[in-house]
Amino acid sequence: MGGEKVGKRIQMIAFDMDGTITQHKCPLGEENKKVLDRLAKLYRLLIVGAGSGSRIFRQMGGYPIDILANYGMQEWEYCQERGEMEVVRNISVRCDRESVDRRMDQLRRQFGYMNYAGESVEYHPSGCVTLPLLGTEADSREKLSFDPDRSRRRAIYPYVKELFLDYTVYVGGSSSFDLAPRPYSKYYALDRYCEERGLSHDQVVYVGDDYGPGGNDESIYRSDFTFYTIDDYRQLGTVLNEFLR
Ligand SMILES: [Mg+2]
Repeated sequence: MGGEKVGKRIQMIAFDMDGTITQHKCPLGEENKKVLDRLAKLYRLLIVGAGSGSRIFRQMGGYPIDILANYGMQEWEYCQERGEMEVVRNISVRCDRESVDRRMDQLRRQFGYMNYAGESVEYHPSGCVTLPLLGTEADSREKLSFDPDRSRRRAIYPYVKELFLDYTVYVGGSSSFDLAPRPYSKYYALDRYCEERGLSHDQVVYVGDDYGPGGNDESIYRSDFTFYTIDDYRQLGTVLNEFLR
């Protein structure tokens, strides 16, 4: 498949944010802003992030771009006339906390995480849930050294998935699992965004760094969308070279 042909058919380029166009949780840098500016002349651009829309918007420094946030439960649209972002979708789902607490207890007992600081589970207004293995109040140094290559969490990931079949389970943060209620995922959100705008999947490419097991880009990586993998956000221009003309 020649680059030229791909470039002509494609209408939209969708991006993960952290680790793809920015350093994790850092503002958008000059270099990648220039890449986005050049792409924006030729393509519709979209961010599909795992974090909250307001954090993504801040990190992007107000860059005019649509944002799907919160594992696809939130949608922000850039309004050209007013020059501001508007929340057009903000889904929250009721969470059965008793059931989640019980299952987390089971997980802690099974794998020896009975000692934790603060709360055992963190509940979010959207209905998403964080399972911090070391607890909500754990020491940040301890959290960072707990599982830097994710191998400890990947080892028990199949079990956690099995235990929380009503959620999509992600290996998130430094020492936790993140749960998003089904059917919400980046794939679900991107698919709906495309459908509502008359875009077919083969008119869209996606760029992301977290495509491994339990990664927040995995649902798109394993789908029919064309996926450009990136392992260093400073390579964005290189990875998308064929679109920069
Ligand atoms: Mg990422």
